[in-house]
Amino acid sequence: MKYVSTRGYGADAPLDFCDIILEGLAPDGGLFLPERYPQVDAATLASWRDTLVREGYGALAARVLALYVDDIDPADLRSLCARAYSAAAFGSTDVVGVADLGGGLLLGRISNGPTAAFKDMAMQLLGELFEFELERRGERLNILGATSGDTGSSAEYAMLGKPSVTVFMLTPRGRMTPFQQAQMFTLTDPHIVNIAVDGVFDDCQDLVKTVASDLDFKAAHRIGAVNSINWARVVAQVVYYIALYLRVTSAPGERLSFAVPTGNFGNILAGHIAREMGVPIDTLILATNENDVLDEFFRTGVYRVRSSAETSATSSPSMDISKASNFERFVYDLLGRDAALVRRLFAVDLPARGWFDLSGTPEFAALRERFGFVSGGSTHADRLATIRATEADAGVLIDPHTADGVHVARSLLATDERIARPVVCLETALPVKFAETIREALGRDVELPAKFRGLESLPRRVIDLPNDPDALKALIEARLAELAPSASDPGDR
Ligand SMILES: *Cc1c(COP(=O)(O)O)cnc(C)c1O
Repeated sequence: MKYVSTRGYGADAPLDFCDIILEGLAPDGGLFLPERYPQVDAATLASWRDTLVREGYGALAARVLALYVDDIDPADLRSLCARAYSAAAFGSTDVVGVADLGGGLLLGRISNGPTAAFKDMAMQLLGELFEFELERRGERLNILGATSGDTGSSAEYAMLGKPSVTVFMLTPRGRMTPFQQAQMFTLTDPHIVNIAVDGVFDDCQDLVKTVASDLDFKAAHRIGAVNSINWARVVAQVVYYIALYLRVTSAPGERLSFAVPTGNFGNILAGHIAREMGVPIDTLILATNENDVLDEFFRTGVYRVRSSAETSATSSPSMDISKASNFERFVYDLLGRDAALVRRLFAVDLPARGWFDLSGTPEFAALRERFGFVSGGSTHADRLATIRATEADAGVLIDPHTADGVHVARSLLATDERIARPVVCLETALPVKFAETIREALGRDVELPAKFRGLESLPRRVIDLPNDPDALKALIEARLAELAPSASDPGDR
């Protein structure tokens, strides 16, 4: 399997999997995708069901990944998937599970990882892939990122104990939930550097962009990223759509739908890819919160990015986006993989005027029929009501992001007979991460899962930083100099 950019780079000389996973964007500013999606038939799905039941999620992941990865030996792929999806990290070798919410809805439990958000499903694998590839090349990587909470902690737990990787993670000071802060700041590994910036999340992201655009600094200090646009993260997420399909169905050809709370179009992109591979997924229900860039596109055909002033801070904060960084990949498929057209939309039209309009095109008209997408939005009041109702009716406590998905799935199911049931609503985080909203909904506190007890009282390590790129560069240089002695010792596992 070879890879090309959505804007055409690599068309005449496509790249290998390991060439693209240590990079972010393609050199032409596009996103990498495989040249085609491998196809799976009913017999393959049946044998995968067997693998999942007998050998666990990690073994299934290795089989799915093998369709996308030519340049890692299958035996190595199996052992790195086994490490990524261990019972130690995910509570059991099942990794994912299903709960019944009633009324044709199921909950797809994909947040059983170390940081209680679905991002662990991708990050745990990315950590293993990075370590494998960096060791093979004899290189090191310094990850610089910004987080509003979930991505940063997931990346840190994934890179923990991997000496070829050091993580510098910027957080907006005082703005993450107490649980998110405890999760990140109690890590004391010197290769994990938590930084509290005097500013909001956008300031953190701007700092990362400024420092990463200093190409000399970036090259001299081997700065990399773990963005949601990383192809390895997307392909890792394809696996849980398949695993949930296999868990929920038993006969060949049986269909189901998914409801996915989304921000950057990362999670639901993986559902689209699973569907393109031939997994019998009927409808993909896209759910946004008040930041409805994507819902607007799927309803109207107009994609309009928002300014940061237009982007509101909601009670499902991990979906508070002004533009959807993975959306370009879907548009590429929607437009028949026309790289020249995608380049015009994303490199010319969007920068020039902030929107493009596909409403009059035959591709947009056929979107539902061909790609199975429907969409809807949710508000703070909807989230609270859904958290309450799901607890009262099904005895299941869900987090506010998951509630966005459940709300939209329920509303659409009530009015749209074409959506095949069951609908699996993806649980993108556990309620403990967003305890304040749960308290607001239910009037009581969330019980802390056993594996997180005691976290809040551990010593913390976080460095305060002014909103200043030079201060950030100085901090990175100083820490890398401190780590340097162990960097010259290849045996420091
Ligand atoms: C990241 C995140 C999302 C949004 O996922 P995308 O991949 O950006 O679509 C939703 N819910 C939670 C809890 C998250 O952490």
